[in-house]
Amino acid sequence: MADLLSDDPRVADLVNETEALRARVAELEALVYVPGLWRCAKCDFQLSQMNLHAGSGNVSPRNEPGGTCPNCHGPLWRVTERQSGNRLCDDLERVVLERNAAEGRLETALRCGWEACRVSVYEMAEATIDECTGKGGTELERQFHRGRAFEAKGFSKGFGAMDPALDDHLKKARDPMGSATAGDGLVGDGGKT
Ligand SMILES: [Zn+2]
Repeated sequence: MADLLSDDPRVADLVNETEALRARVAELEALVYVPGLWRCAKCDFQLSQMNLHAGSGNVSPRNEPGGTCPNCHGPLWRVTERQSGNRLCDDLERVVLERNAAEGRLETALRCGWEACRVSVYEMAEATIDECTGKGGTELERQFHRGRAFEAKGFSKGFGAMDPALDDHLKKARDPMGSATAGDGLVGDGGKT
């Protein structure tokens, strides 16, 4: 019976076909899964499994199962390229939201800082004006005090009317990297690197 089967050319065909299918499955698996990447379905823990080749010092992904989740001790599953792509999209979305929130907080902090400066300048000007008002002395001294009060008033008004969006220092505080790459403030050292 065994001889009859092994002599049958259809058996050899089936064996060849099975080998070809096995090779195709391995090929598709390599395309579907991210090399060496494993994930816990329960808590979303992710692990990159690597083999270190002591002889050559090379590192290669390890696709054999073995590890368990360090959080919940459940099994780890291979991660498909689609799952990985979806996770990248989620991570990107989260980072963009965090960045926008951080920018919002920075804007609020800058506005509060500007307002605090504005109030301080106003109070300093008021104090100077109070100090100079009604001061006696020689005509020259009276003129000096009037001049001081006039200057303080002008300074306070000027600062109050200033548009924070146009202030160079505020622009730098908002975008410190941008001002650094633009080369601002580097002219003084001769522009040499
Ligand atoms: Zn887990």
